[in-house]
Amino acid sequence: MASTKKTTKVQAPVDERETFLSLRKSFAENEQDTQEKLRTLYELQEADNEIDRIVQLRGELPDEVASLEDEIGSLKAKCSHLEEIIDGYRQNIEQNNAHIGELDSDVDKYNKQLVNVANSREYDSINKEIENTTLLRAIAEKNIREAREAIEAKKQDIAKISDRILIREDDLQAKKDELAVIVESTAGEEEKLRAGRDACASRIDERTLSAYERIRSSVRNHQAVVGLVNEDSCGGCFSAITPQRIIDINSGKKLVICEHCGRIIVSPEM
Ligand SMILES: [Zn+2]
Repeated sequence: MASTKKTTKVQAPVDERETFLSLRKSFAENEQDTQEKLRTLYELQEADNEIDRIVQLRGELPDEVASLEDEIGSLKAKCSHLEEIIDGYRQNIEQNNAHIGELDSDVDKYNKQLVNVANSREYDSINKEIENTTLLRAIAEKNIREAREAIEAKKQDIAKISDRILIREDDLQAKKDELAVIVESTAGEEEKLRAGRDACASRIDERTLSAYERIRSSVRNHQAVVGLVNEDSCGGCFSAITPQRIIDINSGKKLVICEHCGRIIVSPEM
């Protein structure tokens, strides 16, 4: 029985800027490993393509749901801010009412003093106090009136915003229902695809996976692994490939990276 020598490779830490090019030297130890790895990457890409197709069915709905939720959230925050302002005005009214109460009792006191005045100077001075107090009372009443008007205005603002919230909540519910129908009809398929995808991803080392994800998220068609188109061009960016590289691609045993877009190009046989 052949002895199986176990080697533990020291993994370099995952670099977030990793590309397939930077991994080229450490991609695989031999052609067989390269072939296996390319096949796994290709499988992963196929699974991701299928998942993307399902996600695309949902179209703009998830974004629309999220932005409606944001909008409703900010409208509600606006309403509660207005409620706080109204509370402030109510406190202001209470304070002014209390002040009016004090002023009224002052006037009562002065009126009683008027009955017992000793001379006209005292009489004038008390009357002056009454006049001042009446003026302060009028100011307090004016403050109350203004606060009540402001409350009414803020209440109208709240009513308008509340109407908008209701409309947006109806929109949101409709979009959510629509999305739920689509998600439900594809949930089983998606779950199976994701399980397959995860199994595939678990067979790929972290650095390669990181490069794969990075390229996938940076390119428009989300393809990090592509085939040839018209037998001589990169399936990702459509640049022409040299004949030697086409031979390498078709061998299925060499890692070929597009010089223009950085995607891995694999044999159509895969
Ligand atoms: Zn390319």
